[in-house]
Amino acid sequence: MSQRQKASKDTNTQPPGVMSVDVIVVGAGFAGLYMLHRLRGIGLKAIVLERGLGVGGTWYWNRYPGARCDVESLQYSYQFSDELQQDWIWTERYAAQPELLSYANHVAERFDLFRDIRFGLTVTSATFDETLTCWSIETSEGFSFQARYCIMATGCLSMINRPEIKGVERFGGELLHTGDWPHGDVSFRGKRVGIIGTGSSAIQSIPIIARSANHLTVFQRTPNYVVPAHNAPLAPDVQAAVKADYPALRARAKTRRNGIDFPAPTTSAMAVTEAEREAVFENRWALGGLSFMTAFDDLLVDKRANDSLANFIRRKIRAAVENPETADRLCPDSIVGCKRLCVDIGYYETFNRTNVDLVDLRDQPIDTVTDDGIIVGCKHIPLDMLILATGFDAMTGALNRIAIRGRSGETLKSKWTNGPKTYLGLAIADFPNLFVITGPGSPSVLTNMLPTIEQHVDWITDCLRYLDEQEIAQIEATAEAEATWVDHVNAVAGGLLYPQCNSWYLGANIPGKPRVFMPYPGFPPYVETCAKVARHGYEGFALTPNASV
Ligand code: NAP
Repeated sequence: MSQRQKASKDTNTQPPGVMSVDVIVVGAGFAGLYMLHRLRGIGLKAIVLERGLGVGGTWYWNRYPGARCDVESLQYSYQFSDELQQDWIWTERYAAQPELLSYANHVAERFDLFRDIRFGLTVTSATFDETLTCWSIETSEGFSFQARYCIMATGCLSMINRPEIKGVERFGGELLHTGDWPHGDVSFRGKRVGIIGTGSSAIQSIPIIARSANHLTVFQRTPNYVVPAHNAPLAPDVQAAVKADYPALRARAKTRRNGIDFPAPTTSAMAVTEAEREAVFENRWALGGLSFMTAFDDLLVDKRANDSLANFIRRKIRAAVENPETADRLCPDSIVGCKRLCVDIGYYETFNRTNVDLVDLRDQPIDTVTDDGIIVGCKHIPLDMLILATGFDAMTGALNRIAIRGRSGETLKSKWTNGPKTYLGLAIADFPNLFVITGPGSPSVLTNMLPTIEQHVDWITDCLRYLDEQEIAQIEATAEAEATWVDHVNAVAGGLLYPQCNSWYLGANIPGKPRVFMPYPGFPPYVETCAKVARHGYEGFALTPNASV
């Protein structure tokens, strides 16, 4: 029996009752795994509660065909252990989901983490008891835990969005969501498949589904900008060269705006001639991946610079797609990078296949889903399988579905009615001894998530060690520090093009969600801001000594 299976089995046999530990960590994705490792290192007893039956978070749930990271493997990986980063061998430039899941399992086994992870437990509530200075955590399976600290490692894109689409519950064929993909084999062979959505998840899965489906219909509401990944097997000499000088690559990445080691921009797009701009864009197109957004330093600041990039990508779309009308429909007219840029392997070319149709929902929206298809306008499109690639209730969704009650008894969801409020994206006023890893108000999804996770976990670890050394029982962000931080995040985001279009960064994909730019576009200075707060004795936090509680 593998350690993973054993850990799951132990979960099922654990007797109900209150289990008391120093720290409860919610979520066993990359954040939860590293958090557990660091907590053990400072001598704290921690338990991780995980809703799935395995580790890996995003890479546990998103098993759809083509699921792959859009950050290169050698960078989308932990750096806390040099032995780990030297030993693990990546097979492709961009790791596919199975490889990332193997990596997460390897890390959990290598650092002996499974024994402190309880799988199959969905946290429903977390309540702070001020008299006892502890968090009480309940799961929907009836398990109860108590801990002095509660750390939410619940992920930014972990609460799937199932939009209300008329009639969808009546669909009699296979109904799937990319973010909650079945663990067994899914066959498209001989089937008429429909996919709703054209975000990253759809863009990755569409080319693969089209290869074996009898017919694929893509229901597009808003076209996205897609750039080539240029994925390839990772040549051993390339990997060896990076590993020989890993610290240099990691150090360079820490100086880049998105935490990824791309060539840094040297000038603004408007400072060069059109021909020079084109040459730089062509270079980045050949390089592939998210490096596009760092071709010039004003692409997310100056609309004219962004327009030049948009025009470049639209020309690429028209060159790739044979049918000019389909090409037109695939061309976005919004700001590039305003929604997260998508990275593809053969997306646009897929529309040249005879078994693929694009239905543009801007002409006519979905009227209803029937038991055997979808009606758009007066046309019935017969389907055997319907895939929702409709994304996530990002950044706040996973936190808001837990009834988290702070000192005053108010829930976090209620506090966040008008949008998330945090201090540094790490802590929340009125919620003592609670930390969020890559929470709203931190750079998180605008950066390479793995190093960003490590930075938060390291900061939290140092903080807990400090509290212990200083005999402090309770730490809580002050309302003033939180308000100042929220204003700062809004001001920085407001100076960029991000808020000018609808995206999940703004909560605009979820009806009724307040329109607030949730991540903080302030990396890399953010890292020093956090370090300075710590150096100054946790400035912006109220610290309560042991004797006072
Ligand atoms: P997404 O980007 O939010 O895309 C959801 C799609 O569903 C959009 O095209 C949206 O259209 C459409 N949609 C939603 N509700 C709809 C409705 N009622 N009717 C018709 N269409 C509807 O979600 P995602 O593709 O899952 O990606 C989310 C994020 O996950 C990405 O931005 C990325 O950060 C991450 N991700 C990363 C990777 C990677 O590393 N390569 C892969 C997958 C996902 P509208 O645009 O009109 O709302």
